[in-house]
Amino acid sequence: MKISLIIPCYNEEAALPFIYEELTKVSSQMADYEFEYLFVNDGSRDRTLAILKELSAKDERVNYYSFSRNFGKESAMFAGFCNASGDYVAVMDADLQDPPSLLPQMVEILQKGEYDSVATRRVSRDGEPKIRSFFARTFYKVINKISDADIVDGARDFRLMKREMVDAIIAMNEYNRFSKGIFGWIGFRTYWLPYKNVERVAGETKWSFWGLLKYAIDGIINFSQVPLSLASYGGVFLTFISFLAIIFVVVRRLIFGDPVSGWASLVCIITFIGGVQLFCMGIIGQYLSKTYLETKRRPHFIISETNRKDADKIH
Ligand code: UDP
Ligand code: MG
Repeated sequence: MKISLIIPCYNEEAALPFIYEELTKVSSQMADYEFEYLFVNDGSRDRTLAILKELSAKDERVNYYSFSRNFGKESAMFAGFCNASGDYVAVMDADLQDPPSLLPQMVEILQKGEYDSVATRRVSRDGEPKIRSFFARTFYKVINKISDADIVDGARDFRLMKREMVDAIIAMNEYNRFSKGIFGWIGFRTYWLPYKNVERVAGETKWSFWGLLKYAIDGIINFSQVPLSLASYGGVFLTFISFLAIIFVVVRRLIFGDPVSGWASLVCIITFIGGVQLFCMGIIGQYLSKTYLETKRRPHFIISETNRKDADKIH
């Protein structure tokens, strides 16, 4: 049996030696399995590619796939899935925040045949800024309420999957990818393995607060149509209010005559309605822009350099 490990790397020169050492250790504990490491270099600007080449030269399990530019972690994972040949496939971060030491346990659970994938979730968020944890928790609450992708709080992208599941993921050919949603959407029986948060071994996080916020909004837009219907509900609500307002204004006119006043309230109403309209147009614009990108059918990634001759280079 073969296990493919996909490791997206963006400026990870500091972390690579650690993860390689850890992988070597874990794979030697699992002698019955053949291993394949797919390091995807996501347009790093440091020595990541050079280190990967060195590792690949001395260890044939190490494969590298180097992107022509930074396409983002989602594309890196997708490239890994497209090129993985194992019976079991897992994605893990290069910074050891997804502990490879969990692998033997995960494989054991899959081997029993009761589950199709073993996913991991952090039960603690120690070492993470409080404000980030707060927003992350809120995000999971919101997206679970309004989308059909069921996502567990603290879920990581780190999961071991059977071949069938990987094929389903590749078949989800959408351009705007949100893996946590895709994993949930395709279904299959998933076992959730909890573990304590581990801090990054070396280097620094690639996610800024704004980057994460954008990721969260993208996730919601990709897996929920609720924001779109918000616009229509809001419209119905405001129309109802305006009927009441019309009755009020007409009755007042009939009883009190027509003194010219109400400029202030008029301005308030106009700006309020203007704001609501722009907000709703913004929501529609978000969906439209996603649709625009989907219809262009651009490739998800472009691999400019790899050690594998049979690689799926543009997909
Ligand atoms: N990553 C990537 N492309 C990017 C950003 C990140 O391939 O544009 C990789 C990164 O090298 C790491 C993983 O995605 O292996 C998770 O990134 P990071 O540890 O910075 O995120 P955090 O754990 O802080 O959420
Ligand atoms: Mg990390």
